[in-house]
Amino acid sequence: LSLPFPEAAVAESIESRIRVWSGPPYSAGGRGTTRYAFTEPYCRTVRDFGRALESLGLTLHADPVGNLVGRPVGASPPRVAVGSHLDSVRNGGPWDGVLGVVSGVELARLAHRRRSPPPGVVSWIEEEGSGFGQMLLGSRAAAGQLSTDDLASSVRSLDDGRAFTRHWSESFVSRELPRVESVLDGAEAWIEIHIEQGRVLESASATLGVVRTIAGYVHADLELNGRADHAGATPMELRSDPTPVAGSVILAVERCARSMSVPTVATVGELVLDPGAPNVIPGRVVLSLDVRSRDDSSVDAVLDAARVAADHAALARGVTSHLRIRQRRRATRLDIGLADDLQRTAAAMGVEPLMMDCGAAHDTMVVAAAVPAALLLIPCRDGVSHSPDETADPLDAARAVSVVDSWLRRLTQS
Ligand SMILES: [Zn+2]
Repeated sequence: LSLPFPEAAVAESIESRIRVWSGPPYSAGGRGTTRYAFTEPYCRTVRDFGRALESLGLTLHADPVGNLVGRPVGASPPRVAVGSHLDSVRNGGPWDGVLGVVSGVELARLAHRRRSPPPGVVSWIEEEGSGFGQMLLGSRAAAGQLSTDDLASSVRSLDDGRAFTRHWSESFVSRELPRVESVLDGAEAWIEIHIEQGRVLESASATLGVVRTIAGYVHADLELNGRADHAGATPMELRSDPTPVAGSVILAVERCARSMSVPTVATVGELVLDPGAPNVIPGRVVLSLDVRSRDDSSVDAVLDAARVAADHAALARGVTSHLRIRQRRRATRLDIGLADDLQRTAAAMGVEPLMMDCGAAHDTMVVAAAVPAALLLIPCRDGVSHSPDETADPLDAARAVSVVDSWLRRLTQS
């Protein structure tokens, strides 16, 4: 049974759902999309997602931490799971994560149309970490990388300070949805479709990317302690000023990342000067470090450069330095057989995908340890993401769906 692929209809369906879910009451309001796990806008979006699945003969289920999967009731679990996440950063864009989930709904619709088994459609909870301060929370919890104790005590809502499990047990997701052990039950493969969030595809004039490796990352804080003093009355030689130490570290980190032979990026995105007044020498400076590369040793090299620069500059100024790692993930090589297969499927359809690496973290990094996993990227305009101005071409999205659909059809026939 071979029906023509309804590209325009799929594009329109994806775009309209993304548009509806981007604003109130599916977003907390303000500019852009703000939707944290378990909030009203989030639960409303989940209910809508469930209704979209019901019309295709699927029922939404939740796992023990609130990851969601749409699958047929009574049938054996789908062999392939697809999806992404429905939570957002504060004032984020409409496409991030939502694209992968609505693509899953479209794939289920296409399967429904030809009466073949649908994929499981997954939405991981709290991918961004904006609500509870932990990136990839749902997928890591499902993989046993966050314990029940963590979720009941240390993982707390940044808004009201209450533990993740409190929010979880009070939500309709926990009280009303049928339970599954794992959203990946029975899955032999996982595919996520996501916007690129950079400008690599656009600058290569490619409309589809197949990811080989997702960059590993380190998030760390460097704390520098000196002595707060009067900015006028304290001569230069009597100061213990941590600010110039921070300056040395920032430059050393930039220099080191630029010098790596494997593309490596390093960012100081937060800088706290305490107490923070123009006429006071700060007693304490804290800066954040975000370092990423597909080569873990390059990430280590930049961290070392930060440490050495901090120790050296601190010693000369009577300042102490302390580096604390917040979170670390090694680079993830995705399944090469699956990537090649998707690349060939796309090429046979006249789409020449770019085989590429991905700098942004995704749940697929965690999933890849459990099942063969693939990540497909489509361009977003000017590479803008995590911003209300984030947008992408719905036809690129439909083409990515078409590639996965074609791959799924072959799998069903085999
Ligand atoms: Zn995302």
